[in-house]
Amino acid sequence: MNISKKEHVKNLVVGCGLSGMVVAERIASQFGESVFIIDKRAHIGGNIYDEKEPETGVTVHRYGPHVFHTNDKQVWDYVSRFTEWHPFMSRVKAVVDGTEVPVPFNLNSLHALFPRTMATRIEGKLIAAFGFNTEVPILRLRETEEADLRQLADFIYEKVFAGYTMKQWGLTAEQLDSSVSGRVPIRIGRDDRYFRDTYQAVPSEGYTALARRMIDHSLIELRLNTNWSDVKETISYDRLFFTGPIDEFFDYKFGALPYRSLDIQFRNLPREFAQSGLQINFPCNYDFTRSVEYKYFMDEKTPHTTISREYPCAYSPGQNEPYYPIPSAENDALYRRYQQLASSLPNTYFLGRLASYRYFNMDQTVEAALQCFAKIETTLNWQK
Ligand code: UDP
Repeated sequence: MNISKKEHVKNLVVGCGLSGMVVAERIASQFGESVFIIDKRAHIGGNIYDEKEPETGVTVHRYGPHVFHTNDKQVWDYVSRFTEWHPFMSRVKAVVDGTEVPVPFNLNSLHALFPRTMATRIEGKLIAAFGFNTEVPILRLRETEEADLRQLADFIYEKVFAGYTMKQWGLTAEQLDSSVSGRVPIRIGRDDRYFRDTYQAVPSEGYTALARRMIDHSLIELRLNTNWSDVKETISYDRLFFTGPIDEFFDYKFGALPYRSLDIQFRNLPREFAQSGLQINFPCNYDFTRSVEYKYFMDEKTPHTTISREYPCAYSPGQNEPYYPIPSAENDALYRRYQQLASSLPNTYFLGRLASYRYFNMDQTVEAALQCFAKIETTLNWQK
């Protein structure tokens, strides 16, 4: 297709990330309609893109570590059509006063950091107050009035959340929607896994191979290195699926929605391992939030290793990438004004983290895209 002159496509998908790929795949395979996908980047997959680091042979996730985890069997079965899985249950540690302890902070973390009698006493109080194997958000734990529990809550807040959250968002946990710190609750149990979902894995040939298979269809045409702003005047369409920032789509009419960005710095090191596990968080030290050693994902055997360090920063359009929407009441109100405009546009669908301004995990992204497709399918059937 020559997009420098006026062209018409049936379905135009802007953004070849997870949302865009799911709708493209569904429309091509279920409706038998053609789909044209554009992406401004030079590669497919959006932020799930991975590749082998040439110097070390380690498969790295270029946009930070991604573990596919879900309780939703439908989502799991859907994604499983495009990949085999390497089962992987993430275990994350945070450095607290120089000691690596499990995060989410749990009873093992408590015993690693407190004197035995004190840890045992607090453990008993936690179990009595919340029950064994439960999870409590840090902001909720801080509301307790019992002296030991309040002291523990303040300790965890200061040592695990305060510094990390300020680095990550430039805000305190209270300034953000409580769902953000609630993603990493305090666990009154001994389960060291980061996630507790039924299905947890990484694609056995990597995310890029998964992405390639998802859009490998004769009715799907892909154009990389192509900006929406460069083609929006020349391409017309029956349906548009937009997965970029929603405020950008509307030329920042109501003002810019804030997104948070990351400067992810990769380092190759001439030794077999650099750290004790996949992910080490540094809430109180350094300017980066976490260090990730990717070879742990696939148990890759290489003489050298690659790690990444994430330095959070503000998002400036054109300069860096918008990684995270920033969930807060104020930002949500601004998003809703854009959403209202969006819902008035016929045959135009806004999908994914950036267009929905939602802090989606991968499974939620897939689920939302499948739901969008199901809605269109229902409308079409109804029209027939
Ligand atoms: N968080 C924290 N300390 C940690 C881990 C997480 O304060 O050691 C907070 C922080 O605000 C972070 C949020 O919990 O942004 C969500 O963490 P998650 O690991 O889900 O972030 P993601 O992997 O999505 O960047």
